[in-house]
Amino acid sequence: PVRVRFCPSPTGNPHVGLVRTALFNWAFARHHGGTLVFRIEDTDAARDSEESYQQLLDSMRWLGFDWDEGPEVGGPHAPYRQSQRMDIYQDVARKLLDGGHAYYCYCTTEELDARRDAARAAGKPSGYDGQCRVLTPEQKAAYDAEGRSSIVRFRMPDEPITFTDLVRGELTFTPENVPDFGIVRANGAPLYTLVNPVDDALMEITHVLRGEDLLSSTPRQIALYRALAEIGVGNGTTPQFGHLPYVMGEGNKKLSKRDPQASLNLYRERGFLPEGLLNYLSLLGWSLSADQDIFTMDEMVAAFDIKDVNANPARFDLKKCESINGDHMRRMDVKAFIEACGPWLKAPFAPWAPEAFDQAVFEAIAPHAQTRLTVLSDITANVDFLFLDEPAHDEASWAKAMKEGSDALLRTARARLEAAEWNPEALKAAVLAAGEEHGLKLGKAQAPVRVAVTGRTVGLPLFESLEILGRERTLARIDAALV
Ligand code: GLU
Repeated sequence: PVRVRFCPSPTGNPHVGLVRTALFNWAFARHHGGTLVFRIEDTDAARDSEESYQQLLDSMRWLGFDWDEGPEVGGPHAPYRQSQRMDIYQDVARKLLDGGHAYYCYCTTEELDARRDAARAAGKPSGYDGQCRVLTPEQKAAYDAEGRSSIVRFRMPDEPITFTDLVRGELTFTPENVPDFGIVRANGAPLYTLVNPVDDALMEITHVLRGEDLLSSTPRQIALYRALAEIGVGNGTTPQFGHLPYVMGEGNKKLSKRDPQASLNLYRERGFLPEGLLNYLSLLGWSLSADQDIFTMDEMVAAFDIKDVNANPARFDLKKCESINGDHMRRMDVKAFIEACGPWLKAPFAPWAPEAFDQAVFEAIAPHAQTRLTVLSDITANVDFLFLDEPAHDEASWAKAMKEGSDALLRTARARLEAAEWNPEALKAAVLAAGEEHGLKLGKAQAPVRVAVTGRTVGLPLFESLEILGRERTLARIDAALV
């Protein structure tokens, strides 16, 4: 049976790279009818926080993920927060020491630095040189007497490690490139290098899908797995690994956690639909087919094969992300769209008085917005002209549209609108005719009318907007723009 895990560290706002990792693990588990384990890697007390933990859970729920084992749902391997599993790690570290798979290392940072610099200067591998591998009991006693502290270091095998990455194919790491590494700090705190593979072994994880940045830790984890099998921790099998491609941001640099574009909260605040965002993130390394960019999560689950993941770096493209989200908005039932707009029609987003809002008016304009917007938060500025006493006064828009001659045009348009029947076709004909009188095409004639009535140069279809706003308010706004 397939058992995968999503195991973030709660160290700040969730970012899109993390969401992509969760998505691929979730889709893989669901495709294979397997189990998704959600584990919290919170062993770094200095960086992890309860707030980040809550935010992580909340984000996962908002995105619509479900997990089979983990926080809030429990499971046979509970607890799923590493901070509550410290005695397990202590016990495993002890067994690794006893079995000769790990040893105490007394080297100080200064000594390590000096030896590393010397090795570099001599053109030799600069990782840990294995000095404490063979300490005699006397040497150890002498260090202890000196009051030196020690870390626990894992002893890497002397042969190369080869594995077949599910995305990248066969990879080999030679011993020079993977030196012995620390697994327990001098203060007794276990490190990621230990706790992550130990929990993967105990939780019987079969496939590890994660970002390429973790590729270099894979040979170490495989070696540790083999040692765990020897000392009887876990079920003795090593999971298969698949490393998801890097995500590149602006300027072809790796998208960093600190990049504002990477913050999941930003997408939530701008009113992305979870399914729109996930659809886009799935394209960072995967695709459903060459000619279909838009799909549901059910379609993704049905089609997902880790072998189809591309090893090449993926480029994060905000415009494409927005456009895909827009597609998902258009696919919604109009009732669902109206409902989804709800939060953006209220404080703190809405600039109008709560009592000025009219649900029926909003429902009349909503279909026009649904086919044009790419994110929900844009709804506010696109409909505010209906609920404000006076339209928004966007300086740049007014300056752009109210040029010489606009006044004369507006006067003509006003007269023709006043006489027109109040439906989009007749309103369009009125503005068209007004434009003709002044030698202006529809686009140019429409601009001052739009700004006078809505306050902005761009917006929803003008004549439908005027129809919904009503004759009286439309004319009053043109009058106000004329003085
Ligand atoms: N807690 C690790 C991280 O967030 C997990 C890495 C892994 O998937 O092995 O980077």
